[in-house]
Amino acid sequence: MANKITVQKGTKDILPADIDSWHFLEETANRVFTASAFSEIRTPIFEATELFARGVGDTTDIVNKEMYTFEKSERSLTLRPENTAGVVRSYIENGMHRLPAPVKLWYKGPMFRYERPQAGRQRQFHQVGVEMFGISQPQGDVEIISLAVNYLKAIGLKDLDVEINTLGCPKCREEYKTKLKEVLKPYLNDLCEDCQRRYEKNPLRLLDCKVEDCKSIYEKPEVKEVITSDFVCPECHEHFEKVKEYLNLLDIKYTVNKLLVRGLDYYNRTVFEIKSNNLGSQNAVCGGGRYDSLVKNLGGEDTPAVGFAMGMERLISLLPEQKHKKTDAYVVSDNVNEAIKLVNYLRNVGISTDYDMTCKKFTKQLEKASKVANYAVILGEDEIKQGKVSVKNLINSVQVLVNRDELGNIIERF
Ligand code: ATP
Ligand code: MG
Repeated sequence: MANKITVQKGTKDILPADIDSWHFLEETANRVFTASAFSEIRTPIFEATELFARGVGDTTDIVNKEMYTFEKSERSLTLRPENTAGVVRSYIENGMHRLPAPVKLWYKGPMFRYERPQAGRQRQFHQVGVEMFGISQPQGDVEIISLAVNYLKAIGLKDLDVEINTLGCPKCREEYKTKLKEVLKPYLNDLCEDCQRRYEKNPLRLLDCKVEDCKSIYEKPEVKEVITSDFVCPECHEHFEKVKEYLNLLDIKYTVNKLLVRGLDYYNRTVFEIKSNNLGSQNAVCGGGRYDSLVKNLGGEDTPAVGFAMGMERLISLLPEQKHKKTDAYVVSDNVNEAIKLVNYLRNVGISTDYDMTCKKFTKQLEKASKVANYAVILGEDEIKQGKVSVKNLINSVQVLVNRDELGNIIERF
């Protein structure tokens, strides 16, 4: 026998038994996001590597270690590790800044990151997310946070914690970075390797570190004092106060987490994460925030923006298991010609239908029907003679004799 080829590490098949959950997440996304006037956008799976280097930022883990990059015709291409950069590229390229603001977009699809696979972490995974362009007011931040909360509610998730923070603007953040570096300097040698690298390039990211030794340093009184200080300028302060006020107005519970900085370089002002208590250590289901400089950095007009992304595998792991739906009807008959015609008729009037293509005995066909369908549509010799069909409800066993064109009304679709 030939060698078996197996699925790649960190990737998974989504099998028919699980597909109903995926459809549920996708259809609910379409419904909930459309209700907030967002439209779907689909961008390519691969883009120029430079888009992510500039868009996600070359001090991030994503760009430094996690990208699937390859060369084709002397061009460096990368499988998208996230979709914000691609959506921003498309926004600019298609002149969407000329549309009336805000431009509201949502997406779903696979993302690729070369990470160490573990529970809740894959190399090909899926995100559903939104991006909104053109609103600098705090209402924009709240539009996005409340949309995330509404979506998670619509798919039935409970026990979620919303954490928010403000990163200030490039101006006030610079001072904060300097202070942070100063107070952390004596501990530089105690920090993990990654943090030592981040210390110079992107000191805010230090706060995001999951290594226990690093985390304990942020508990030291003099360090904690800097971290918990209200460092932002009056404008950024006012913006954040308004965000909190509107969240209160909507009864959205949140906590302010001063250590929340998010992994990506492009965020400013509001950042947020939504976590579940029912996941292990990879407990973030949603991450997002404001990124007012990204459109300009990627060559567009100066445009404020805010968005979020959710990990769909993590959402699915929190959903109650969905039962695979049965087909509406199963045609049972010994007359192949009549069966084929009836099956085709039912399918064309929108009733999902199957039948036995191997000509098994009538009783075997009935047995199969009760396993896979909600109704058996029976075409015996009597029925054929009378030009009618029998419909048996397989849940309560009630059977009636009807005309073919009545089937559409009798068969209930679940
Ligand atoms: P994490 O801290 O878990 O690495 P992140 O900050 O890298 O998350 P984002 O880039 O903000 O994640 O992506 C948003 C969401 O996508 C995350 O909250 C998570 O639910 C999901 N996600 C990110 N990376 C993965 C992965 N490798 N496998 C599965 N889901 C992921
Ligand atoms: Mg990550």
